[in-house]
Amino acid sequence: MSAPGVQLIPSSEEIMKILTRTAAFREGHFVYPNGKHTAHYFQMPLAFRYYDTARVLAVALSRKFRVERDIASQLPKISIISPASGGIPVAFGVRDALNAEQIYWAEQENGKRAFRQYVNQGEINPCIIVDDIIRSGHAIEETVELVRALGAPIIGCGAIVRFTSAPDSIAGVPIKSLVEFDEKYYDSADACGDCKKGAPEEHVRF
Ligand SMILES: [Zn+2]
Repeated sequence: MSAPGVQLIPSSEEIMKILTRTAAFREGHFVYPNGKHTAHYFQMPLAFRYYDTARVLAVALSRKFRVERDIASQLPKISIISPASGGIPVAFGVRDALNAEQIYWAEQENGKRAFRQYVNQGEINPCIIVDDIIRSGHAIEETVELVRALGAPIIGCGAIVRFTSAPDSIAGVPIKSLVEFDEKYYDSADACGDCKKGAPEEHVRF
């Protein structure tokens, strides 16, 4: 039993067990459309297809936000924002756990990221940007630009998994994550250890 008021956050090992069990994380020999080779493959929506798993992940991430005084003091008048479709279940789960007032999500439209809700300046509460996985950080960076253009302050940012090659803070706020993953990419087959061993390769999407 934990002390009253103390809410435990699962360890990154426990989160990786959930991701492995749901096949959202796999080990092997993978080739991405850009030609890079890796030994790991994250397909986060596979973890979010189970409601119970989705809930555990989102509640865990929400606890990292709730302990922040700047966030807790502004609840419930905050927005949870997803940069893309993969972050939508995370946004809904975090919203639910924090009882935040608004949810927004962006989509690619004519090659540009835009909010699906076509919001205007002043409509967005101070916001937390969440995603399922942060690989390069580009999606988050573009979303920060969108939010800033609408004049809303960014008070939090996070994902279930963050690659350590991505930024660890953005717009002056630290990026929270449940797993920090040190992913190695090989630019070509020549540089890839699994290719040298002749391991069969699997072509995957991002
Ligand atoms: Zn390879």
